[in-house]
Amino acid sequence: MKNKSLWISGIKDESCKSLDKNICVDVLIIGGGLTGISTAFNLKDSKLNIALIESDKIGFGVSSKTTGKLTYLQELIYNKLESNFNYDTAKKYLDSQIDAINIVKENVSKYNIKCDFVKNSSYTFTNNDKEITNFKKEEKILKKANIKYEIINKLTNGYNCKYAIKVDDTYVFHPIKYIISLKNICIKNGIKIYEDTTALKLKKESNHYICETKNNKIKAKWVVVATHYPFFVIQGLIPLKTHIEKSYISASITNDIKDFNVITNSYQIKSIRYPLDKDKYIIFATNSHKLCDNLDRKKEYNKMVNEVHKSISRDIKFIWTNQDIMTNDNLPFIGVLNKNEPNLLIGTGYNTWGMTNATIAGKVLSDIILGNKNRYIDLFDPNRKFSMDKIKNFFVNSYLNGKAYVVTKLKKNYPWYENKVRFENRNGVNVGIYTDEKGNEHIVRNLCPHMKCSLIFNMKDKTWDCPCHGSRFDIDGNVVEGPSVYGIKVKEKR
Ligand SMILES: Cc1cc2nc3c(=O)[nH]c(=O)nc-3n(C[C@H](O)[C@H](O)[C@H](O)COP(=O)(O)OP(=O)(O)OC[C@H]3O[C@@H](n4cnc5c(N)ncnc54)[C@H](O)[C@@H]3O)c2cc1C
Repeated sequence: MKNKSLWISGIKDESCKSLDKNICVDVLIIGGGLTGISTAFNLKDSKLNIALIESDKIGFGVSSKTTGKLTYLQELIYNKLESNFNYDTAKKYLDSQIDAINIVKENVSKYNIKCDFVKNSSYTFTNNDKEITNFKKEEKILKKANIKYEIINKLTNGYNCKYAIKVDDTYVFHPIKYIISLKNICIKNGIKIYEDTTALKLKKESNHYICETKNNKIKAKWVVVATHYPFFVIQGLIPLKTHIEKSYISASITNDIKDFNVITNSYQIKSIRYPLDKDKYIIFATNSHKLCDNLDRKKEYNKMVNEVHKSISRDIKFIWTNQDIMTNDNLPFIGVLNKNEPNLLIGTGYNTWGMTNATIAGKVLSDIILGNKNRYIDLFDPNRKFSMDKIKNFFVNSYLNGKAYVVTKLKKNYPWYENKVRFENRNGVNVGIYTDEKGNEHIVRNLCPHMKCSLIFNMKDKTWDCPCHGSRFDIDGNVVEGPSVYGIKVKEKR
């Protein structure tokens, strides 16, 4: 059983070189996940001079750890949007998701992209009588929007099901194969892509931006921040408008071939992507929780593995985790981050539906740059007005993040550390020390450079994890996942 995502296994992609000089461009895209690559792809036929920088490898961020579904049936999202906003907002979001699926479909066909793109059906189901009223509301919205659906009370996978909504025109694909194909088309069209290049700072200077990397500077008229979680705090105040949700995923060998996906609506979400062919994997995601909860990550992994062994397959080949940004009002943030800076754009907050939302973000962000009209600019406007959910979730999530901040400052040791982790103050610096299997000590600063939260140790992945905003570091203090762009080595300068 490998502790990594199925999608990166066996991928051989030629690396792009890192940035080795100062450059000046019209558009700088920071981050090469599906958002960044889709934006670059949509700008490829313009006359603009475009560069994309990626701190790791293109596509190997959150986009490489999904379940790879392209669906507009997203739990009971339309019901949430209608009650928080109105029917028109819910309908517009629905249209945006269908448009996103069609964009991928067109790209796959036009450029002959080999990314295992296949049509299947999607179900959202429940076993809980109390949820049926909300399922009926979702059904009503789909009906009003002229979407073809079926109501089912039996699933053919043997799961107990009291009520399910089924739609047919949804798809699955291999996210990395798709992203890499778009990347190669971008490169052929003259877009400069630099891997292993991290944006550390972004400054506005008169009518342009200066982005600083470790050794170089990039001057740009437009900047698109497609880094999943933004690496800066003040601009856009994203930490106050979002929280992070984490899930545990497995891919197992099975003979259970089916042409559908299922997802529950109840917390904690369970999601299954069945294989359509023999020898393909069944993907199961479960144990979704807020990042600041369930701090014993190894226990969550074990829970997932036990559940898969019991109900899916004994033959697990890959396990991994993924975390996504959830917005307080259930709509993504795509567009101008701050009204006073119309050339600074962002695409984030996809509420675990980023394959469609990153695709539509690519279209919206490129249309803003090109000055084209786009009917979704207002819908996803990061500066949109307050709504009831936004206010309520602002208080709930701020409280939970604040609690995680305080608790991890006060309580450091946990029984699940099995005496392999300890904390000390060395010369005025709070450090965390992990002792590996060979008895070697690995010492790091126990403070996340992003917003100064204390870290917890993840005994399964052997990483130091921030329970507030999701940064992760390896045992020697190198960044594994942002938003922090700085590591936690004891002597690291910044
Ligand atoms: C369990 C789970 C399952 C999911 N399954 C699905 C699904 O089936 N369908 C679906 O629609 N969505 C799904 N999602 C959601 C989806 O994975 C994400 O919303 C989406 O991948 C986010 O894409 P992105 O481009 O914004 O981020 P990323 O793919 O993370 O891209 C951001 C990139 O920016 C780079 N970066 C970060 N900081 C810097 C910096 N300072 N400088 C340079 N580069 C930087 C990172 O290395 C990364 O490559 C799932 C999410 C979870 C948690």
